[in-house]
Amino acid sequence: MKTAVIPLEIPDDFQIFASISELMGSSMPFKEVIIAALHAISGIVRAEGSSLLLVNRKEGNLSFYIALGDKADQLKSMTLARGEGIAGFVAETGAPLIVFDVTRDPRFSKRGDQITGFKTRSIACVPLRIRDDLTGVIEVVSQRVGVFTPRDLDVLTVIGGPIAIMIDNARLMNEVKGMHDRLGEAVAERRRIAIHNSRLFEQANKQATEIERANRVKSEFLGIMSHELKTPLYVIMGYAEVMRDKLIADPDKALAKIIQYSHELMTLIDSILTATTVEAGGASAVKVDTDLNQLLGELKSLYDFPLGGDVAVVWNLPASLPRMMTDGGKLKHVLQNLINNAIKYTEKGTVTITAMPGIRNEGSGIGAGPESPIPNSRFVEFKVADTGVGIARGQISGIFDMFGQVEASLKKSRGGVGLGLYIVKNFTQMLGGEVRVESEPGKGSIFTITIPG
Ligand code: ADP
Repeated sequence: MKTAVIPLEIPDDFQIFASISELMGSSMPFKEVIIAALHAISGIVRAEGSSLLLVNRKEGNLSFYIALGDKADQLKSMTLARGEGIAGFVAETGAPLIVFDVTRDPRFSKRGDQITGFKTRSIACVPLRIRDDLTGVIEVVSQRVGVFTPRDLDVLTVIGGPIAIMIDNARLMNEVKGMHDRLGEAVAERRRIAIHNSRLFEQANKQATEIERANRVKSEFLGIMSHELKTPLYVIMGYAEVMRDKLIADPDKALAKIIQYSHELMTLIDSILTATTVEAGGASAVKVDTDLNQLLGELKSLYDFPLGGDVAVVWNLPASLPRMMTDGGKLKHVLQNLINNAIKYTEKGTVTITAMPGIRNEGSGIGAGPESPIPNSRFVEFKVADTGVGIARGQISGIFDMFGQVEASLKKSRGGVGLGLYIVKNFTQMLGGEVRVESEPGKGSIFTITIPG
């Protein structure tokens, strides 16, 4: 009776196959899995070198993806032309091949050995296939003649199957990743375009609003100007004509009226010119060393004549004020506008002008006073207070706008076109300062400007 002989290596081979398939299912990077598989194959078939070559889809040539063995690393820079060498032959025919002695086989290419110095004598090579697609070959080499058997070819083929699937998966993954990246880029590009478009839209909207505002200002400007300029001109013309026709009993009074209304006209034209220059962005402050005592002295002299009416102007100034780095012309213009308004909107009472130097402390805000312990930046605070009509709380926010005037009922038509405070606000800002207003209808108003310097 014959006893079945089980070859000793079979259980070992199975163990190796089992651990390779376990590796393939693991989270190990796929290239490392293939390297481990090739090492295992070399062990099983007793090869001294092994390699995996991949077909380049475009050119049809083969390049070494993995090469194991002495100096085999140097093969990675090498490409086998289509059909070159045993590997090229297998890739072309798709048939596994054993070469017992390469020195007797004209298909063998010596190029690999020339690079590594290895002396190949026998080769076994199998194709890697996915469906009908040949993706590469696995090749094992030995320096001895006739080492590989048909069974070794089976081993290569068995392990080559899952390796081919892994390579195909990796290629698919790469393609999917490429698609994903391209999709991501397309989405990002769309997002960029959308952001750009919304910015353009915002800009166009802003421009439209700006144009609308400019148009509104322009038509308001024309409407108000034609009316406001005509009024004093009519008065001047009327008095001039009655004087020419000698129809007037008191020519001095008529002359005084003509002079008064000419001044008004001049002031109005000046404001229009200043406001339009500011609006066009054509005004800026030129700060120089300025003597405030002299500036206020000049200002005071403008109001040193009887104002006609029941308004007293009181100057509440310290004995001496510091010199300041500021634009004296603009500061004077601001104060003059505020004083003129205070007089204009006070029928009976007092207009008080105060000036007080101070030092602003970091964090303590304006108004710390001259006695501040930590000197920081100097400023002067000017106040123009009147006991006139005052301004209703709801109206205050609009008075600094161009043509901003409170309702006619409150204002009782005292002339003016609503440019004075617009100039005050803009000039004060140009000087680096700020303007505040406190007011109570029927009681009066206090305009405060704080100018650094
Ligand atoms: P206007 O030429 O009308 O005086 P302003 O720009 O100087 O123009 O002032 C805007 C509006 O603010 C005025 O029309 C007036 O209603 C109000 N206003 C300005 N100053 C005073 C003040 N001292 N008292 C009361 N109302 C004032």
